[in-house]
Amino acid sequence: MDIRTKTVHTGVYKDKSYNSVTTPIYPSSTFYFDALGKNKGYDYTRSGNPTRAALEENIASLEGGIGCSATATGMAAITASMFLLKAGDHIVTGDDIYGGTYRLFSKVLPNFGLKFSFVNMRDLKKVKAAITSKTKMVWIETPSNPLLNIVDLEAVIGLAKEKKILTAVDNTFLSPYFQKPFEFGADLVVHSTTKYINGHSDVVGGAIIYNNKEIGERIRYYVNALGVSESPFDSWLVLRGVKTLSQRMEVHQANALSIAKFLEGHKNVKKVYYPGLISHPQQDLIRKQMKGFGGMLAFELNTKKVDLNKFFKKLKFFSLAESLGGVESLIEHPWLMSHASMGVDGLKRSGITKETIRVSVGIEGHNDLIDDLAGALATSK
Ligand SMILES: *Cc1c(COP(=O)(O)O)cnc(C)c1O
Repeated sequence: MDIRTKTVHTGVYKDKSYNSVTTPIYPSSTFYFDALGKNKGYDYTRSGNPTRAALEENIASLEGGIGCSATATGMAAITASMFLLKAGDHIVTGDDIYGGTYRLFSKVLPNFGLKFSFVNMRDLKKVKAAITSKTKMVWIETPSNPLLNIVDLEAVIGLAKEKKILTAVDNTFLSPYFQKPFEFGADLVVHSTTKYINGHSDVVGGAIIYNNKEIGERIRYYVNALGVSESPFDSWLVLRGVKTLSQRMEVHQANALSIAKFLEGHKNVKKVYYPGLISHPQQDLIRKQMKGFGGMLAFELNTKKVDLNKFFKKLKFFSLAESLGGVESLIEHPWLMSHASMGVDGLKRSGITKETIRVSVGIEGHNDLIDDLAGALATSK
């Protein structure tokens, strides 16, 4: 089935009581038994809920997995996934992963005996060198945030599989519309559904998708035991948002490409990071594993020519805000905002500078967005 059909139809339970065409919200915290041991498949909403189940079926089908657990946030999905491991286990991950994931991996989980190596995952030799006999998981994020570096999914997952190491891919940036990590052998796919999957900046949520029954049962067990499942209302919002994922992703991408090309030609911009530009150094890999380039880009602003504060202030259509993947355009400064928790050393190691600006390109008219940026770039010091 075409992904555009799946987003609209999968997991959408038509209501038998009043024939509504959308999935009802079942806010009930508990469900009664018709007799001892006899219910309709649900007993308590933390463990299972029909509205959440509809969303889970939908997202699992988009990624090509056998099941999904919808969680309260993206970080809840990542946290629950780490419970597949135990004290003493070692995890290899990238040195430019999402700031919140970096915080969890560097500051919180080491207190529980998990050990992490943060490496440049574009370099297969570095990944190989980091793997020890204790390594039990490789955690991949591609494209990376905010510099859009690409990790070779086939190569890194292949390397891990040889050594029977679990692989998890955070697919938030491209969404299943543009990238399907299961096609390259991943064991888990994780999302912050707060971003493109919901797409309207009005809910926080996460998802863990699996394609193996045993791993799926463990994930569902941990999500329930930890109490991190998505609420029925939020599940309903995400289920509503996901229906237009395909159409939104096409417009995000077309707008991002126009803006990237405009920025690349601007005298006050030193460098643009976008997988859709031929200046991106990983062309073959992009063609091999991505079905599109997504709606995120970053650039280096010449702050000798343009005052940062004036630049942000002048913009009408780009709100100065963290987060990404919504219909409205957002702009932010990773050094001081989204990635500040990495600390100066971490920021420098990952290549982020005080001039790096990240843009989540929305679905507005691209001419308005480009005019807006052109006006702000003309604000000289
Ligand atoms: C936002 C984000 C997360 C965390 O998701 P929340 O919903 O904010 O908890 C994880 N990974 C990536 C790539 C993200 O962009």
